[in-house]
Amino acid sequence: MSGLAIRHLENLRRRDFVAGSALIDGRWIAGEQRGIVVDPATGEEIAEVASCSAADMNLAIAAAERSFASWRDLLPVRRGEVLRSWASLMLDHSEELAILVTSEQGKPLAEARHEIAYGAGFLEWFAAEGERAYGETIPSHKLGSLLHVRMQPIGVAAAITPWNFPVAMITRKAGAALAAGCPIIVKPAPETPLSALALARLAAEAGVPRGVLQVLVGKPVELSTPLLRDVRIRALSFTGSTEVGRLLLEGAADTVKKVSLELGGHAPFIIFDDVDLEKAVKGAMAAKFATSGQDCLAANRIYVQKSIYGAFVEAFAGAIGQLKVGHGLESATDIGPMTKLSVANKCLSQIDDAVKKGARVFSANQGAGLGPNFVPPTLLSDVTEDMLVAQDETFGPVAAVLPFESEEEVIGRANANEMGLAGYVYTDSLRRALRLSERIECGMLGINTASFTGPPIPFGGWKQSGLGREGSRHGLAEYMQFKYVCFGDL
Ligand code: NAD
Repeated sequence: MSGLAIRHLENLRRRDFVAGSALIDGRWIAGEQRGIVVDPATGEEIAEVASCSAADMNLAIAAAERSFASWRDLLPVRRGEVLRSWASLMLDHSEELAILVTSEQGKPLAEARHEIAYGAGFLEWFAAEGERAYGETIPSHKLGSLLHVRMQPIGVAAAITPWNFPVAMITRKAGAALAAGCPIIVKPAPETPLSALALARLAAEAGVPRGVLQVLVGKPVELSTPLLRDVRIRALSFTGSTEVGRLLLEGAADTVKKVSLELGGHAPFIIFDDVDLEKAVKGAMAAKFATSGQDCLAANRIYVQKSIYGAFVEAFAGAIGQLKVGHGLESATDIGPMTKLSVANKCLSQIDDAVKKGARVFSANQGAGLGPNFVPPTLLSDVTEDMLVAQDETFGPVAAVLPFESEEEVIGRANANEMGLAGYVYTDSLRRALRLSERIECGMLGINTASFTGPPIPFGGWKQSGLGREGSRHGLAEYMQFKYVCFGDL
């Protein structure tokens, strides 16, 4: 594994993708301070990047504000053309972008390629949706008047993005903001700046004007403080932990920004005994192990009805035992390293806690000895609600299975968590599926499917999983404000 990412990066056709400069006001800034990027599989340093200061952020805010009027006043169809050429450049450079993602984030290359296509899809989708910000005409409650609701861009937006989807979490926010007519400043996660900076290069080449999209890498608090304090930032979109989401919500209160938060999840994955076991195992594998488990949609509590519990655990353990752990740039790899050591350690402490409290462990120990960021794919069965794994988001390849008896019981247990992002139900009964679709407390529910995201759907959570929606027409509205206009005396 050693040197693998470095060799791939040295052979990139676009060497400028690893230059590590930040984009401020149309200029590439090397930064007075430098940060480093490491390959999470080996811990090797793979690049240096600018580490921007609060003063740099203030320059970026001013540049964004200056660019607002001309971007806002472009016809939506013209903004759409720019977004489409950005998407098309992403697809032209798909392989290089995927190598960047895998090198700094760790996910298997096939998943990284998928992320590039998924990420470009948001730009294409919002390019068209920007033309459909129709507003409303309301049947009047007053004679001789005409009532309109106009949708107008909110102003300069800021995005603070995570390391688990370093490309798609940027395009999902920037695509919507730019389509709405808003400039956006992106602060990517310090672990995965290269993908963000490469996206910024392609955006500039696609014709995104100076100041309309800027990317600044650096220390999170130093860069987020000016964003929070400045009244010119009208909208803030964040994806990451609930803990940081709370801080940002509080920090945005003084200037009353429009805040959208996509925070953690703790998805229940409920399997009733009327389903085809093979399909349920396949679904649980996809919902648990995609992105090596570092996905806010990941199945965190897999509830299995008692009569098929033993058979499910056996088949699930068999499938988990087949997963190949390794460097994401090796073609056979299914599970890569955790991007952050803290995430790997959290997984191990959840396993430890569960075992102490009576859970059974199945693991073929794949990846043991590869390095501190690797976590062997692990099945914990007979999990109970008092275990950490059943309460806190795992964010890694550890699957917790819990038995249940009745529908009523499992609904109560599934909802007994403050997270409410995604949920999954596997059943052959349409009536039951309808009942659960009504009662499970989450923003997104898959019935007999583990895969349901994409640009047209409103992505977001209930309870402490967040505020607002991304993707879909609702995602566009996060960057717009309504203006009610009454034409009287007609
Ligand atoms: P995090 O919330 O700390 O990081 C996400 C983003 O927030 C990064 O850009 C980071 O630089 C920034 N950030 C961190 N602290 C900040 C602060 N005080 N002010 C402003 N910005 C700040 O997430 P993490 O610690 O890297 O991961 C911890 C856990 O968060 C994970 O184990 C997982 O449970 C959850 N998480 C969820 C998602 C998701 O997709 N919803 C993504 C990443 C992490």
